[in-house]
Amino acid sequence: MAKSWALALHGGAGPLRKRDHAVAETHMAELLREGEKRLARGDKALDVVHALVIALEECGHHIAGRGSSPNAIGQWELDAAIMDGRTRNAGAVASLRGYKSPVTAARLVMEKTPHVLIVGKGAAMIAREHKLEKVHSPKKYYKPAVSRPVKKGELAHGTVGAIALDTDGRLASATSTGGLLGKTPGRVGDTPIIGAGLWADERVAVCCTGQGEYFLRTNAAADVSSRVRYGKQGLREAAEGSLDDLTLLGGDGGMICMDVLGRVEVVFNAETMKRGVVTSSGRFDVATMR
Ligand code: ASP
Repeated sequence: MAKSWALALHGGAGPLRKRDHAVAETHMAELLREGEKRLARGDKALDVVHALVIALEECGHHIAGRGSSPNAIGQWELDAAIMDGRTRNAGAVASLRGYKSPVTAARLVMEKTPHVLIVGKGAAMIAREHKLEKVHSPKKYYKPAVSRPVKKGELAHGTVGAIALDTDGRLASATSTGGLLGKTPGRVGDTPIIGAGLWADERVAVCCTGQGEYFLRTNAAADVSSRVRYGKQGLREAAEGSLDDLTLLGGDGGMICMDVLGRVEVVFNAETMKRGVVTSSGRFDVATMR
């Protein structure tokens, strides 16, 4: 019997915006097909989530990479992270300026340094040392996917994420974000924080999206794993439990979750969440609305 694999992507959760989601959904479907091909032929989950998050960063449909908005002083500061489930090796960058692929900088932190999280100038230094592609003129390169909150006073935000299980039974997750629109310089959300915005171990992989402050306060991604591991909860119950915890605090957002058998759960309390799933058992779906 062929070994199972699975892949889930998301492009952020948030309030309802009256816009056509067809282009972003078509692109996400293409990425799922690409991921399917790679996982079916035996590529590593870590490489697949990395490659697909690069594509999500480049596409400009989401608030990450090219689609990010500037902070309160007109600068682009981006966050990203990546984690390998079997080894729990992880890497992350925060407040990175001047490079096209924050998730690639995060992978460099994981593989080329003894550290897990590097911020600001240090993150840019790693990117420069490894000759990552630069953004020479930010105002021309970035095409903010959203430039204004839907409702006045609201904190608009977005992220992209990918989780995968490969045929070797390894789980991995990767995230990348422009964070909150108009954020205070130096503000870091959950996305690059291992355990809050993403998690991968030998049982479970999770990526979160939503207002990061709530995910930080509940350690949301690792909480899903803890519920499975110590609480003996099923994946759905664990995902819902973690989301409930931050809903009680007033947080909004959602998460994509996967277990080592390739089961995928998507939970969110926001009005929309851009997401897509493909599995070796024949599941294929892409959606934005509930
Ligand atoms: N979690 C991200 C942040 O707070 C934003 C999002 O996922 O929408 O930076």
